[in-house]
Amino acid sequence: MLEKDRISYFYDGDVGNVYFGPNHPMKPHRLCMTHHLVLSYGLHKKMEIYRPHKAYPIELAQFHSADYVEFLHRITPDTQHLYASELTRYNLGEDCPVFDNLFEFCQIYAGGTLDAARRLNHKTCDIAINWAGGLHHAKKCEASGFCYINDLVLGILELLKYHARVLYIDIDVHHGDGVEEAFYFTDRVMTVSFHKYGDLFFPGTGDIKDIGEREGKYYAINIPLKDGIDDASFTRLFKTIIAKVVETYLPGAIVLQCGADSLARDRLGCFNLSIEGHAECVKFVKKFNIPLLVTGGGGYTKENVARCWAVETGVLLDTELPNEIPNNEYIEYFAPDYTLKVPNLNMDNLNSKTYLSSIKVQVMESLRSIQHAPGVQMQEVPPDFYIPDFDEDELDPDERVDQHTQDKQIHRDDEYYEGDNDNDHDDGTR
Ligand SMILES: [Zn+2]
Repeated sequence: MLEKDRISYFYDGDVGNVYFGPNHPMKPHRLCMTHHLVLSYGLHKKMEIYRPHKAYPIELAQFHSADYVEFLHRITPDTQHLYASELTRYNLGEDCPVFDNLFEFCQIYAGGTLDAARRLNHKTCDIAINWAGGLHHAKKCEASGFCYINDLVLGILELLKYHARVLYIDIDVHHGDGVEEAFYFTDRVMTVSFHKYGDLFFPGTGDIKDIGEREGKYYAINIPLKDGIDDASFTRLFKTIIAKVVETYLPGAIVLQCGADSLARDRLGCFNLSIEGHAECVKFVKKFNIPLLVTGGGGYTKENVARCWAVETGVLLDTELPNEIPNNEYIEYFAPDYTLKVPNLNMDNLNSKTYLSSIKVQVMESLRSIQHAPGVQMQEVPPDFYIPDFDEDELDPDERVDQHTQDKQIHRDDEYYEGDNDNDHDDGTR
């Protein structure tokens, strides 16, 4: 049985109050629903709950370009008409609209993932959960696929200060392109994404042939799947691949993106996973007993997203939840049955046994090319990013960078993302 203080859970109700717009599928309200479900099952008694800090612009700029962060900070629905060219450049608009409190929304979900990574680094917990995080499509200089700031990249960069190798696993129905791209050239992060691929499904990347480049060759793994994959095929493939990845790569920490749009009945997804099947993957990863950062991600049928992440919070706490949903503020969303389990969907699985086995063979072959887990030079280095209390407007942003604690850490050099957008990887040819 886990001790209560070994699981950290991050939540700020303000994150659920923003509104992407009437026809937009992303409903942050799903985060409030998840949280109330977690509370109604009494799971808060088994873990430590924290309100995350709001990430500072300079923390966001550890990955994102300063001009992009500054623009997100500045832009409002009322002023956006003055910045047509910037909106285009930063890909803001239809998919990624400018709404009230957009920047604060980013600060909260990114702050949660950063706090989660730091608590894992300091060994003050074994598992850290931030359901508001997991926005895997955001790029260094632009928004993409409802994602503005890539909290996963920021969290992984933080973990790399203490861990030689970090494993990123993504079970969202969409390819984890932003995270893959950020670490495409390094062996210090292995990214493994299971996603729908083909038929022009967003974002269009994530071919099995994309395996990383230069130092990062063989350290990106893509598992492209077709419509209707069911629990049995998905979990079998997931367990086989992840077991081999962990055995080969020996990660010091794992980041698990639990996008719930891979569930059956998702408004945008096309897989046929049940909540049990989805949660089985979380259970499997937890069993390795490696420091684990768990985030949310996509998920557009909000009552099922809430069910799924509540069940998975239970899994991480070794607690099975009764099927009947206890009364809570949002109980009416779970009508008519008021249960956690959702009946299975009758749907063809377009992933044949032959197809799945060929995927498995190719991934295993790629993993065999990795001789052993890569090491890293251990040096004394810049410690945790420490920002003292201050009035945001008073200080020159450059001065804030000088504030460091003096911990001993692994050197993080700038090998992850080169920042130039004109390399082969970024021109859309892969
Ligand atoms: Zn998604």
